[in-house]
Amino acid sequence: MVVRAFTVLAAVLGLVGTAFAQPQSAELSLILFENVRIFDGKSDSLSANMNVLVRGSTIEKISKDPIPVNPGIGTKTIVGGGRTLMPGLIDMHWHAMMVRPTVAALLGGDIGYLNLMAGAEATDTLMRGFTTVRDMGGPVFGLKRAIDDGIVPGPRIYPSGAIITVTGGHGDFRQPVELPRTIGAPQSRGEQLGAAMIADSPDEVRVRVREQLLSGATQIKLTAGGGVASPHSPLDASTFTEAELRAAVEAAENWGTYVTVHAYTPISIQRAIAAGVKCIEHGHLMDQQTAELIAAKGIWLSTQAFPDELADAFPPGSLERLKANVVFAGTDRTFELAKKYRIKTAFGTDILFSPQLAQRQGSLLAMLVRWYTPAETLIMATATNAELLGLSGKRNPYPGKLGVVEEGALADLLLVDGDPIANITLIEQPAKNFVVIMKDGKLYKNNL
Ligand SMILES: [Zn+2]
Repeated sequence: MVVRAFTVLAAVLGLVGTAFAQPQSAELSLILFENVRIFDGKSDSLSANMNVLVRGSTIEKISKDPIPVNPGIGTKTIVGGGRTLMPGLIDMHWHAMMVRPTVAALLGGDIGYLNLMAGAEATDTLMRGFTTVRDMGGPVFGLKRAIDDGIVPGPRIYPSGAIITVTGGHGDFRQPVELPRTIGAPQSRGEQLGAAMIADSPDEVRVRVREQLLSGATQIKLTAGGGVASPHSPLDASTFTEAELRAAVEAAENWGTYVTVHAYTPISIQRAIAAGVKCIEHGHLMDQQTAELIAAKGIWLSTQAFPDELADAFPPGSLERLKANVVFAGTDRTFELAKKYRIKTAFGTDILFSPQLAQRQGSLLAMLVRWYTPAETLIMATATNAELLGLSGKRNPYPGKLGVVEEGALADLLLVDGDPIANITLIEQPAKNFVVIMKDGKLYKNNL
């Protein structure tokens, strides 16, 4: 009884971690990649043949000369054979909990089932070479913890927690019969899940933002304008007022992090920037003036080349399908503006409700060669994306450098059978072409 009481007390006081921690192994694992050419995440060409030593979770040494290893310590050697070693890929607009279920299954399904589905998808995500995702909304904190604890293989997750929206905004999936909402009344299903929270005043926004931060959000996501997949929000609608957006920005910045917003139209983008938002998701309907503003203020644009198949999630003739067509038509112009004004641009996919499309996650990256060189494309999905992850500051759950192959960086690495700069389509077939997948210094795949 005394022991049990202590256990409970220890849990309450947060002592469990120290009282019952596993003893740390004094010897960190050593893995040596021999004879690899390196795409370092920043350069537009591969290095000469190199050797790379990973100790524990970190890249310790990169050298042209052989790296001597003490055979007694049990170094694992991977004979690279001139293949390409590159940083793990990063997807900056992911919804780990919403890739596989349908909308109906998400809103009506059992949370245990949804979590197991998301766990299986997280493993597939890692096996496609995506070693990090920035999750742009959904109840993902448990999944992140299970991955970090080694319970299920998956990518590093930078969680936003619930998307924060307004009544009728993008992410409000309630039916009109559920109105009116009484503040303090039971939550809608989407809110119970932690998928999207509704907030209709600066005070409510502050509460919802702080709840996500308490839960471990590394950044905050609001929907500043209408969206494709939502039943009520017209694309042209601006949802939050500037005061509401500013309340979110203040709460996030007080916590050391930032707000990013879902926004397509010039007015919703401009208002978000005026309120102090640091990153725009999508931006597909922006105009030249808005692009100039984004560039001048150093705001990030996290945008996507949506494939036409994404619209297939919505029945032909449906309102959602019509909205998808309007947004998709803006893709080309958005990338042209992003290039013309040298906007800091991040890569993400935003795959929703389509396990089939998720299998083509790498293809969606390779599609960017319509606007960028292969090297620019790969740099965007590695070092540039990692730079945006850095906006989370001290809320970064994975201290260390991501998105690069350099001494001292975290060892999230892919060994590619070929040169992805010369042939970017290699990343479209990860099962065949990524012969080694490493995250945090651990091998999750080694076909050599
Ligand atoms: Zn999204």
